[in-house]
Amino acid sequence: MSVDAQKIEKLVRKILEEMEEKKKPAETECEWGIFDHMNQAIEAAEIAQKEFVQLSLGQRGKLIEAIRKAAKENAEKFARMAVDETGMGKYEDKIVKNLLAAEKTPGIEDLRTEVFSGDDGLTLVELSPYGVIGAITPTTNPTETIICNSIGMIAAGNAVVFSPHPRAKNTSLYAIKIFNQAIVEAGGPKNLITTVANPSIEQAEIMMKHKTIKMLVATGGPGVVKAVLSSGKKAIGAGAGNPPVVVDETADIEKAAKDIIAGCSFDNNLPCVAEKEVIAVESIADRLIDYMKKHGAYEITNKEQIQQLTDLVVENGHANKEFVGKDAAYILKHIGINVPPDIRVAIMEVDGKHPLVTVELMMPILPIVRVKNVDQAIELAVEVEHGFRHTAIMHSKNVDHLTKFAKAIQTTIFVKNAPSYAGIGVGGEGYATFTIAGPTGEGLTSAKDFARKRKCVLVDALSIR
Ligand code: NAD
Repeated sequence: MSVDAQKIEKLVRKILEEMEEKKKPAETECEWGIFDHMNQAIEAAEIAQKEFVQLSLGQRGKLIEAIRKAAKENAEKFARMAVDETGMGKYEDKIVKNLLAAEKTPGIEDLRTEVFSGDDGLTLVELSPYGVIGAITPTTNPTETIICNSIGMIAAGNAVVFSPHPRAKNTSLYAIKIFNQAIVEAGGPKNLITTVANPSIEQAEIMMKHKTIKMLVATGGPGVVKAVLSSGKKAIGAGAGNPPVVVDETADIEKAAKDIIAGCSFDNNLPCVAEKEVIAVESIADRLIDYMKKHGAYEITNKEQIQQLTDLVVENGHANKEFVGKDAAYILKHIGINVPPDIRVAIMEVDGKHPLVTVELMMPILPIVRVKNVDQAIELAVEVEHGFRHTAIMHSKNVDHLTKFAKAIQTTIFVKNAPSYAGIGVGGEGYATFTIAGPTGEGLTSAKDFARKRKCVLVDALSIR
């Protein structure tokens, strides 16, 4: 054999060895809920769920605690992986979001039994599992949604098959693997959470049609919500938003400006609840803008630059994915504006029909619309929210204005005098969720929404009144 032939043989052997090596993690991960095909993932989850419902509620609670612990221990790693893989959002904020999901998603305590007692005896209405739930998760909150859905769905007695966003595949699969390990270590069955090694819309479609899947939960844009609602199965749809912020003349203007910048820039505007446009009454608009600049905003006043920015970030009526969740400085650089990295948000004044206002951008670009009075502000806010009924924010000290806006806009979340993230539990009371189901009405979903109501009637006994 010539030297060259030997070299080639060595090289081929090395490549083959490397290919073998690459296969190994996939094989090992199989043990932790990751399967080649969706049918296998569903069948394994079905077996796991049957074993799981034999456990006591106390044991179920222990598994939930194990998921919380694993999520907290991995919050930083999840955040790093998500930023690296998706190229979106902010590491520090993603840690906050992961910890929030781990700590404030309700567990088995959410399953409250209704009781009726009287002359005819005692009746219970209890919350029972669906069985195997299919959950479709977004790229914007990949691990947060998996933490939140896993806790809620398992607390209700279900197994869950995830169909994560392909762009957040590695991060999502890693979280699923970690949670399965935690469940098994805590004495639970293997494969209580499953998925496929290569998530895709095709695999999600198999999931949506599979007879074992008794409930579908979609967290994402309008397309996926429509897909699950057309599936013929019980479905929860947590869809898009375009949260407006209204600021009236009675607000604490500096606090409003500071809160708006904080909410809008959180995780570079990826949360579906984050401030997407500001509607300000004209008497306070200048002061609001000045204070926004004081708290980290850069104002674009040049009309041509506003147009250039619009052409850059809006593509066929949708956000240009290349800029979703990116830093303001990165986006502005593309239109020749250089700002220091501590600029958190780009602001600009536009009219109410402008695409920067009407399109859900999910990036730290915040258009401001000036209107005559609070009535006009409310009217425009309702229009640009597009009837999603997702989230709205208002800065006002006038209870009549607050009430009027909340009634008019009918959003699932309405935040008063705080950054939007108070609505999901960061600095606001109440539990956390990353699946906010406006279209199907469950609102801030938790274990109770992933359970079926069943009635158990005992006649002529156990009523002791
Ligand atoms: P996306 O709609 O592109 O994807 C969401 C998921 O749906 C992904 O897993 C994707 O693969 C899947 N998917 C998309 N179309 C599908 C189809 N036809 N059939 C089956 N699966 C399909 O959304 P994204 O970019 O990941 O997330 C951002 C969007 O999600 C924004 O609109 C945001 O407002 C919304 N969102 C809503 C909530 C909420 O709780 N309401 C939470 C997070 C994100």
